[in-house]
Amino acid sequence: MPRWKLFTEFKFDSAHFIEGYDGKCGRMHGHSYKVRISAESEKLNPSAYLKTPDMVCDFKELKWAASDSEKGGLDHAFLNEVLPVVTTAERIAEYLYHETMKRIPDGIKLVVTVWETDTCWVEYTE
Ligand SMILES: [Zn+2]
Repeated sequence: MPRWKLFTEFKFDSAHFIEGYDGKCGRMHGHSYKVRISAESEKLNPSAYLKTPDMVCDFKELKWAASDSEKGGLDHAFLNEVLPVVTTAERIAEYLYHETMKRIPDGIKLVVTVWETDTCWVEYTE
């Protein structure tokens, strides 16, 4: 069976605090989050920009969160106001997974990795 696996990485800068956290993470601060998304598929699909079935999915759709928060992304956002979940790296990865799945064709396996710092990251998949 043929198989393709796309990878993309991007960054966004955001402020947050962790609600209910007993310690400094409970106070407002910021991170330069790094995200890696892999998208694996056994078939190719058309996209909004290419009518023929020659892509797993559009890289643009995987990188939506890198855009300005005023344009629907997460860059320069206050995450506590934007996300419907507690803003741990675990929940951010889960949120990115589900929001990205809504933007891509069916049948793609995603793995979302979120770095909160250079030495702390989390991976989420289903
Ligand atoms: Zn933090």
